[in-house]
Amino acid sequence: MSSEAIETVVVDGLALAQQLRKEMSEEVGKLVASGQRPPCLAVVLVGDDPASASYIKGKRRACKHVGMQSVEHDLPAEATQEAVISLVRRLNEDEGVDGILVQLPLPDGVSANAVAAAIDPAKDVDGVSPTSGGRLLAGDEGLFPCTPLGILAILDHYGIPLEGANAVVIGRSMIVGKPISLMLQQRHATVTMCHSRTRDLPGTCRRADLIVAATGRPRMVKAEWIRPGAAVIDVGVSSVDGELVGDVDLENAIGVASLITPHRRGVGPMTITMLLHNTLIAYRSRISR
Ligand code: NAP
Repeated sequence: MSSEAIETVVVDGLALAQQLRKEMSEEVGKLVASGQRPPCLAVVLVGDDPASASYIKGKRRACKHVGMQSVEHDLPAEATQEAVISLVRRLNEDEGVDGILVQLPLPDGVSANAVAAAIDPAKDVDGVSPTSGGRLLAGDEGLFPCTPLGILAILDHYGIPLEGANAVVIGRSMIVGKPISLMLQQRHATVTMCHSRTRDLPGTCRRADLIVAATGRPRMVKAEWIRPGAAVIDVGVSSVDGELVGDVDLENAIGVASLITPHRRGVGPMTITMLLHNTLIAYRSRISR
């Protein structure tokens, strides 16, 4: 290990998100000025989870900021799976809706997989339907999960080479770990997928040129796990004693990693931006039919 401190680039995900949102806002402005209707995102909230309500508020604000319409559909916590699926089917048929997002988590008794399977893949702006997953696996075009798209946008913006790189992804969720592993592999990285049963996670991380941590385990990835000069994407967000922290020990990783995303102004703003990006893609393909 080199004893020399490395100058770490701390990613400004908010600045990148704002730049991309400005470009989208200009495109939407031109489309509307030419007589088209604005893109429309339908958001379904089942129950009254305060965290979900806060995420939806952020999405509504982001849509407004770029001139997109967002329409919320609230169902009570007692809503049945059939009621949720029936609403999704109505939104599938609605010509004025371009994207559908069903906010997770869903109440007990409502299967997220069953609801995701009901979403028209052409409107699946969260990339959760089995068709979207299959397209990602096949390397086809499609609408893919927003957080991994945001991570790739960050890596590309900061010029992190992926071809031939050893990438370690910690976490195997459907919305982050699995899709980012596939996307990195499609960009010709050699990907190791890790999870709670992985043996020697520190040693595996130390061989990585790129670490993507998405576990929700506060400060689990120590500075000693990071090969000097490796790039680190910290997706995790947890609350510890009222303070938000990531999966990576950010303070000590600075000076070791070449690049790191902080848990504030890191991946988060890019996730919402990619939701807008997917909605715009879905809209463009609908108005060009
Ligand atoms: P998740 O469904 O919560 O699953 C966590 C994953 O981490 C699982 O695959 C689990 O392994 C793995 N894991 C847990 N403990 C581990 C350990 N000690 N060592 C290695 N792996 C371990 O994952 P998620 O939904 O992707 O969320 C992960 C984190 O990212 C959360 O903090 C979430 O809030 C955050 N997040 C942030 C954004 C954003 O935009 N900033 C977006 C999405 C998620 P097993 O599969 O073996 O259980």
